[in-house]
Amino acid sequence: MIALHPFSARAQAGQAHLRIMETTDLHVHVLPYDYYADRPVDTVGLSRTAALVRAIRAEATNALLVDNGDFLQGNPMGDYIAYERGMREGDLHPVIAAMNTVGFDAATLGNHEFNYGLDFLMKSLAGARFPFVSANVVTREGADPTRDETLLRPYVILDRRVIDGAGRPHRLRVGMIGFVPPQTVTWDRRHLEGRVRARDILAAARAWVPRMKEEGADIIVALSHSGIGPATHAEGMENASVPLARVEGIDALMTGHQHLVFPGDAFAGVAGVDCAAGTIHGKPAVMGGAWGSHLGVIDLLLETSGGEWRIVGHEAAARPIARRDGDGRVRALVGDVPEVVASVREVHAATLAYVRRPVGRTSAPLHSYFALVAGDPSVRIVNRAQAWYVAEMLKGTAHAALPLLSAAAPFKAGGRGGPEHYTDVPAGDIAIGNVADLYLYPNTVRAVRVTGAELADWLERSAGIFRRIVPGGRDQILIDPDFPSYNFDVIDGVTYRIDLSRPPKFGPGGELLDPAARRIVDLSYQGRPVDPAEEFVIATNSYRAGGGGDFPGAKGDTIILEAPDTNRDVLVRYIVAQGTIDPAADGNWSFAPLPGTTVLFDTGPGALRYLADLRGLAIEPAGEAPGGFARFRIAL
Ligand code: MN
Ligand code: MG
Repeated sequence: MIALHPFSARAQAGQAHLRIMETTDLHVHVLPYDYYADRPVDTVGLSRTAALVRAIRAEATNALLVDNGDFLQGNPMGDYIAYERGMREGDLHPVIAAMNTVGFDAATLGNHEFNYGLDFLMKSLAGARFPFVSANVVTREGADPTRDETLLRPYVILDRRVIDGAGRPHRLRVGMIGFVPPQTVTWDRRHLEGRVRARDILAAARAWVPRMKEEGADIIVALSHSGIGPATHAEGMENASVPLARVEGIDALMTGHQHLVFPGDAFAGVAGVDCAAGTIHGKPAVMGGAWGSHLGVIDLLLETSGGEWRIVGHEAAARPIARRDGDGRVRALVGDVPEVVASVREVHAATLAYVRRPVGRTSAPLHSYFALVAGDPSVRIVNRAQAWYVAEMLKGTAHAALPLLSAAAPFKAGGRGGPEHYTDVPAGDIAIGNVADLYLYPNTVRAVRVTGAELADWLERSAGIFRRIVPGGRDQILIDPDFPSYNFDVIDGVTYRIDLSRPPKFGPGGELLDPAARRIVDLSYQGRPVDPAEEFVIATNSYRAGGGGDFPGAKGDTIILEAPDTNRDVLVRYIVAQGTIDPAADGNWSFAPLPGTTVLFDTGPGALRYLADLRGLAIEPAGEAPGGFARFRIAL
């Protein structure tokens, strides 16, 4: 028994209920599987979202399904196709195979479609049994957008028969036009420079929408791979969906790119947005989360008279595939559509083999046992990868000439995670699964621009992890257990020492304890002291740059690069690009000598195997520590 939507129940003769469904930011998540962790999950997967699609189609209303972009990249299945199997002429990309199985009416491109280059993209699109539209990706710019040569057709007008409330068919022409953030051409400059450019989203919309009307579109849907952001239009803005809603002729907006859910609390209080009504400037809009987590649904009640259609009612909703119960457990709300699962069965198996197989090699062990007391390979490799990526991103910008540093913290460094909670990858082959272990969080890369004074305070904030040590004292406990290791940033590209005899400047939560305190000494860049007034770029992550941990110089107002890629993806790319990595720490930081002083440091028992590799630190085993940890004595 299927419950009819009120619009279907209410529709009269000459009225039609049209449902427009959206998936967005699938990022190759066809199946409910986390390839990094190598285990099934219930929170992602088009095979699940497709069950919601199928239920809506079964209601026998008039329905269209669109995808809003970022489908081609973003998990190891995508990397497997791009880096291992490749796309030859005529190959079917697995996400396209899955989308063909679900059956889409139209789709647009997201910024991530360009990550593997134009050739890869065009070969992938060629396998789709539905049209792609993109109005602002331009191969040759004309005097105005309508004179542009675009990479894909800017829009499509779908000629459909809809059934009205009296069971009579009518012709309905639905225009679909697509947009991508113009930043895409900068983010993927190495693939796109000299080949494509991007128009401002609003400029393209204002030019093309009237053309669609002239060509007979009864209603127009914007496939906006762009977020719900500022209300005021600014040339080239990334998240343009709010001003886009004001463009005359656009009737409904499918949005995305931000991986958020609309209607939903994430957008409470945003100007122009009504979360209760599911509208932007009064027009229905949705954002279907990411990775197949939600199906966006816009319901329209249309009325025809004198050959014209108008919208007489609308609703918007985002339907989840899973929910988190009060106890924190995830419960699936739908099952898989078996045909979708079957469409990628072989590629799934190949992807499993791929994540379990080496993608590169490391010439030194990658472990985090000593990350809090010495230069450390697991932190160093993240720092190297971030700097490698940010250097490329900043090429040709005003920031490119500044010294580039990189900040990273050990995520797995024991603590409350226990004595096994360490990264420990031996020298030799590295698999994708190991990379996940090196970078636990789904952060994206950021770069900030800071002064030498802020740089020093950033390190002072990190140095708050150490207790104050009495010179000449024996066996003092070194680490403050209330200070999480993910807030102990090591900054690569400068050298410095930490004087543990001095009081900390900042407390465990980032609170200023003593403005005059200075534990960071001998802070140098290329062998000379850092000037408090000179400027640096620091590569870091979205958590830190946005104010996470409340670090000086990282409160959200110093960001110069908001990169689209996750730090984990960048790490994978770095390892694939390098082939063999050399993560051996360069010893750029150390404790300042305190003769006759010893401290005790607890770490995982696995550390004993690497003790001999540790240089520049006088350390010896000192027995067992509470909770299964191993204790070490360090002579400062
Ligand atoms: Mn995305
Ligand atoms: Mg995107």
